[in-house]
Amino acid sequence: MNKFDISKLEKSVREVPDFPKPGIKFKDITPILINPKLLAMSIEALASHVDSSSIDKIIGIDARGFIFGSLLANLLGKGFIPVRKEGKLPWQTESQAYDLEYGKSVIEIHKDAIDPGERILIVDDLLATGGTAEAAVKLVEKLSGTVDSLLFFIELEFLNGRELLKNTKVQSVLKY
Ligand code: AMP
Repeated sequence: MNKFDISKLEKSVREVPDFPKPGIKFKDITPILINPKLLAMSIEALASHVDSSSIDKIIGIDARGFIFGSLLANLLGKGFIPVRKEGKLPWQTESQAYDLEYGKSVIEIHKDAIDPGERILIVDDLLATGGTAEAAVKLVEKLSGTVDSLLFFIELEFLNGRELLKNTKVQSVLKY
């Protein structure tokens, strides 16, 4: 296995049909998480897309974005900010509503998570329609931060999420 055996990572994502709703093909990353070599490789592959000197902090989006985002933050020596589903953060929050591939939701960030002008990398496990990522971008802007770029482990290209995010740099490790 070389350093970034992308095809090995790709083959290790399990596709679960009709979860959580009929018609959705859910990309299950747990076979990667459970394997230490694949987990390390997935974080190295994410890190290969990042210019560490151009970011101050990393956001991970609830919930699988926490896994990749916090491991990446640790590897790069950056602080980690959780963006959570509504009602989960204990301190004062900013909120943003958005549409999902399967439903509607609200995400929140602590008001003191970002200092004005800080450059933020936003990480999530998967880019589908882009609605979640777009909401995270709006949260950063509400706190007067600057979004450096968006980074996903998986991108579902056929859903064209990049179109919604066209004002922001978007990168991904695996494309389906
Ligand atoms: P979207 O806002 O449509 O880009 O959806 C992205 C969010 O929904 C991410 O946080 C994903 O974890 C989750 N998600 C959407 N579609 C899928 C899918 N087919 N498989 C796994 N997760 C998904």
